[in-house]
Amino acid sequence: MTIRRCSDTGNRPVTFSITFLGATEQVTGSLYQINAGDHVVLLECGMIQGRGEDEARNHKAFPLDPKAVDAVVLSHAHIDHSGRIPLLVRQGFGGNIYTQHATVELCEIMLPDSGFLHERDAEWQNKKRRQRGESYVMPLYTKADAEACLSRFRGVDYDHEQEVVPGLSVRFLDAGHILGAAVVELTYRDGSGERRLVFSGDLGTRDSPVMRPPAIVNEADYVVLESTYGDRLHRNLADTLAEFRQVIKAAREEGGNILIPSFAVGRTQDLLYLFSKHWQEWGLNHWNIFLDSPMAIQATEVYAKNRDLYDARFFETDTFRPRLPNLRMTRSPEESMSINRETAGAIIIAASGMCTGGRIRHHLKNNIGRAENHVVIVGFQAAGTLGRRLVDGAKTVTLWGDEYAVKARVHTIGGLSAHADQKDLLDWYSNFRSRPPVYLVHGETAAQEALALKLRHQNKAVVSIAKFGQRVELH
Ligand SMILES: [Zn+2]
Ligand SMILES: [Zn+2]
Repeated sequence: MTIRRCSDTGNRPVTFSITFLGATEQVTGSLYQINAGDHVVLLECGMIQGRGEDEARNHKAFPLDPKAVDAVVLSHAHIDHSGRIPLLVRQGFGGNIYTQHATVELCEIMLPDSGFLHERDAEWQNKKRRQRGESYVMPLYTKADAEACLSRFRGVDYDHEQEVVPGLSVRFLDAGHILGAAVVELTYRDGSGERRLVFSGDLGTRDSPVMRPPAIVNEADYVVLESTYGDRLHRNLADTLAEFRQVIKAAREEGGNILIPSFAVGRTQDLLYLFSKHWQEWGLNHWNIFLDSPMAIQATEVYAKNRDLYDARFFETDTFRPRLPNLRMTRSPEESMSINRETAGAIIIAASGMCTGGRIRHHLKNNIGRAENHVVIVGFQAAGTLGRRLVDGAKTVTLWGDEYAVKARVHTIGGLSAHADQKDLLDWYSNFRSRPPVYLVHGETAAQEALALKLRHQNKAVVSIAKFGQRVELH
């Protein structure tokens, strides 16, 4: 395909632009405004996660009027990309939300769950506020708000071109990050030609156990690139697996439990895959394995329904249950609480992945104070989260206002990340033929600076670190 370039816009109004309104110089809160002719499209509408003061920013008004947005394009289901959609709809957004069809199914479980967590969080805060005679807070949105936004979703297959608003079309390509995750290709056509913006979304790694490698893209006029691990190389998979095996062996010898904080979608299924593949070799038959997260259980069911999109060999072919005879999937609070009785020999996989909420916090409370226990961190931990404090070697942690000594051993197994590392990012960019200008998003400053340096030197790319509120005209 030839792309005619718009070399001279003269005095004509600029018709295609991107404005960076989130995930600038940080990982969470993805939100980008696309102007295409007279239309406004939001690319992502994610939640800001991390420190309390950061999360409070979710309650602030959107930097644009939700009623003025014509459509939303979503790369994948993770809450830092999708989590403010219910709020957008409640505040008057009335258009369609385009995303890969498996992402629709994941959002159907993740967004109502997020609404439920906001309601519970507000309830908990209001209990304390009542005692102090302070005014009440409202939840960011409710489960009902989240359920109401689901009718706006429109599922699109990978590699299919879909018109979003007149002149602007989207194509989703497999990003290899989690089920349904996409690289988003936005093409705008008007009288002066065709321009293409390629947004990496969250890119997967070259040797993800479950997902396919990210799709290669050759043509773009502009690239918006994630940079979560822009300054790091993951350990290779073989070393990572050897390390995992070692931790399990040590925990067995010491007679402890293993806690794995895990993102319900993506990481959990990676773990189920690896556990089923290495069940014998890692001695997993000696353990009771618990998947203690209703959301992760539901997400696993969505994976089971979409087996054509990844390597699905960890599911039994007849029952579509994970191929692990000693796995217990605990849905009810009673089943979850019964795990408290396990003082040794339990592997507990629970959300949330950064220990900011969910059942993992209860298990940490019960297990963190004993030296024979192990906590295995297998995913990215944003600054300010409890997970990050554990990775950084905190001696104590605070849970529900009480302080607990950290006696359990904390391991970080980096090679299992669902995100591209520096090499993956550079390799992916190097496939673009024309060395299009790059805007870095979805990364902390150190990672972005390191990646920018490499892109400039190795790839001769023109690189900018996107700033909040920055508008780029795509002409
Ligand atoms: Zn993601
Ligand atoms: Zn993300």
